[in-house]
Amino acid sequence: MGIHNNVNFIINVKSLVETLQRETVVIADYGDDSYELVYCNTAASKFLGYSEDDSIEDFGDNLFQFVYPADIARVQEAFKAAPFDHYSADTYRLVNKDGQAIWSLGHHQRFVVDGQECIFITFTNVHEIIGAQLKLASDNDKWLDILNTIPVGLAIYSIAGGVTTTIAVNDMLVAFSNVVGRQLDGDHRDWSSSELMMIFNQDIYAFCTKEDKHFVTEMLEGSLTQPITECTFRLRGSTDTRTVHIRSYCCSKEVDEGRRNYYVTFQNATRDILQEQALIRNQEKLIRLSYHDTLTGLQNRNAYNRYIAQCRRERIWNVGIAFCDLNGLKQANDELGHLYGDKLIVKFSELLEKYFESSSLFRISGDEFVIVQPEVDHQSFKHLMTGLIAEVSENHNLASIGYIWRESLTDLKVRVNQAEELMYIEKQRYYEATKTITSKHRPLLLNTLLDELLNNRYVMYLQPKAYIDSTTPIGAEALVRKVDASGKIIPPYEFIPLFERERLIPKIDFLMLEETCKFLEEQTEKGNDKFKVSVNMSRVTMAENNFLDTVREICGRYNFAPGTLELEITESNQTMDNNRLSDYVLQLRKEGIGVSLDDVGSAYSSLNLFVMEGIDTVKLDRSFMLQLDTPKMFTLVKYVINLAHELGMTVIAEGVETDEHRQKLADLGCDMYQSYLLSAPVPKDEFIARWLS
Ligand code: C2E
Ligand code: MG
Ligand code: MG
Repeated sequence: MGIHNNVNFIINVKSLVETLQRETVVIADYGDDSYELVYCNTAASKFLGYSEDDSIEDFGDNLFQFVYPADIARVQEAFKAAPFDHYSADTYRLVNKDGQAIWSLGHHQRFVVDGQECIFITFTNVHEIIGAQLKLASDNDKWLDILNTIPVGLAIYSIAGGVTTTIAVNDMLVAFSNVVGRQLDGDHRDWSSSELMMIFNQDIYAFCTKEDKHFVTEMLEGSLTQPITECTFRLRGSTDTRTVHIRSYCCSKEVDEGRRNYYVTFQNATRDILQEQALIRNQEKLIRLSYHDTLTGLQNRNAYNRYIAQCRRERIWNVGIAFCDLNGLKQANDELGHLYGDKLIVKFSELLEKYFESSSLFRISGDEFVIVQPEVDHQSFKHLMTGLIAEVSENHNLASIGYIWRESLTDLKVRVNQAEELMYIEKQRYYEATKTITSKHRPLLLNTLLDELLNNRYVMYLQPKAYIDSTTPIGAEALVRKVDASGKIIPPYEFIPLFERERLIPKIDFLMLEETCKFLEEQTEKGNDKFKVSVNMSRVTMAENNFLDTVREICGRYNFAPGTLELEITESNQTMDNNRLSDYVLQLRKEGIGVSLDDVGSAYSSLNLFVMEGIDTVKLDRSFMLQLDTPKMFTLVKYVINLAHELGMTVIAEGVETDEHRQKLADLGCDMYQSYLLSAPVPKDEFIARWLS
């Protein structure tokens, strides 16, 4: 709950309510009879007896405290029945600040604001009318005295066998009929009081439009079981060109055996109803407002998020994506004023619109724009982008732009991020070229890495894992290697620490994950669905906002046996808290992905994660093995193995370089090993040739 903390949402709700100029509250409908009061305008606060200083919104989800207890069930029904394309009306009692119950007419209509289903309710005070009507019904003997105290038109009917007999009408009804009659027919017709008797007195249905007659019937019949019923219906004039909306309230009472009186009031509700209809039309405006940027008219961040969500459900094809960031907007705002800044933004949006349809354009923040153009071939997109970029640079280098093209994609966000990284490289160039702007150093490293990734310079090596007393691999670890321009293989310790520091390591980790999934899919296709492969995940990668989504997205693209993929994580709580990590581990397990604890015994490790639910394997670091011959280290390793076993985990020893060490570990009960004794990491093809064909 708590949608009322969403500023955008409240702004949108307000803009809708204010057009209505009525006592209005807005409730969020969370389903399952759970509602929250999210907005209440001043008029509605007053209606309930509160002043402007009382913030009714603070009452939050305890909404029903404002409803008279006997009417709660009715109000719940009314909320449930609130329609989308129209409104429903119900009469019930609301309790004001002084504890008084006030008969109120509520109009209910459903809207979706910022993705949240809401019911807009407007209140009309009908206490006086209904109070008098009820008094009239209960004080049957004195009705003649009471009749003319009722502030609106009222008639008392007795209905038997479909025939209406009028018992009495008040003076107000006479006046009302004259006015309504004139509204309907102007001077075409003589609305004398005898004529009006025809309308309201003789037959309640007489001037009601055919389509609305059943509303009147429902109101009359409803009064047999409910204290008060309500309906609106239209009156037709003799020329049928004008309509007047009438609102009636009805209560009824059995007066003698088998004889029942109906006390029906009549009010002109045309103005109210036209206003409600305007509200419905306003929804279109609201939708436009919440999905478009007012300065440029382009789609805004809400629209962008909605589009991203949509792309997750439906793959898009032949799509060009660009990320644009205005150059020097902050400086322009600071030095030349915001009006000038706005001009730059509008100018750039106009350039965009010259090349792309507005349905492809989003302004996602002050100075950032995204282009997503589906169904465009690579050449055409490139052509459009070249044109745009040339024009942008003619216009004082208005913006830096990065773009990519993909044949098909599901995760748009990942691709937009790629375009964004390319934009940063452009930005770096712009900073370098523009002397007036102090460099923000976007690293050249990124430039280089992206280039290297494009040229497939990073490759997967695999190192086998086997049971401690066997030499037959049952699994492997994926380890990255870089191939430099001369074909030389560069080991990970030469580049991984740098990439971690510059937060570029996710690119490598996700590449290895993808390579591993591909490998597992090939193995599964060959019927080898038991072979497990683990991938290293840096803490930096796991701290990325959409880490899990990215893992899911990558895994989802390949078909491999569940339980064959494992992620190796290092123990540290530097970049993320253990709660989040624990949540990740459980989520990964649910998806059939195992999690192991890497580097146990190295400088990074502590025992924190040993007890985390869902981690099934620990990997003893090579540093343990280096000193295995010392009695102290031997004891430590013995206890670590025992501890892991007691906690239900499998133990793998890394860096076991001699058979003597392997034997020692076997004696201590270590389950598996991964070491040069079996093999150093080798390229994938070699691995397959040696062990899997
Ligand atoms: P790690 O995950 O603990 O991987 C095990 C390392 O121990 C590998 O080094 C492996 O070659 C080495 N090793 C295994 N058995 C022996 C042995 O008997 N003797 C010796 N001397 N070494 C052995 P590698 O491939 O150089 O990787 C080093 C580290 O780089 C990895 O340690 C891991 O932390 C990191 N790394 C490698 N690939 C990736 C990756 O794709 N992503 C991330 N984030 N880190 C990676
Ligand atoms: Mg590892
Ligand atoms: Mg390790």
